[in-house]
Amino acid sequence: MKDVTKEYSNGEVTIVWKNSLCTHSANCVRGLGEVFKPREQPWIQPENSTTKKMIDQVKKCPSGALSYYMNAEKEG
Ligand code: SF4
Repeated sequence: MKDVTKEYSNGEVTIVWKNSLCTHSANCVRGLGEVFKPREQPWIQPENSTTKKMIDQVKKCPSGALSYYMNAEKEG
């Protein structure tokens, strides 16, 4: 599979997902189903939750496929 890195932002935080690292453990889907929706496009919908909840969930990704950055930090 081709390495794809995708970014999804709610304007405050950006979630970064690397498909080649994702083991499809679905931790993220179970933990925060309103954001991580593997059957939908886009499959990560950050506008459905809070920045804090998403960061907590991103940190629980066992494979390292998910990471995040604060938009303000990147710009400044
Ligand atoms: S928790 Fe991480 S490895 Fe598991 S499905 Fe989500 S992104 Fe992929």
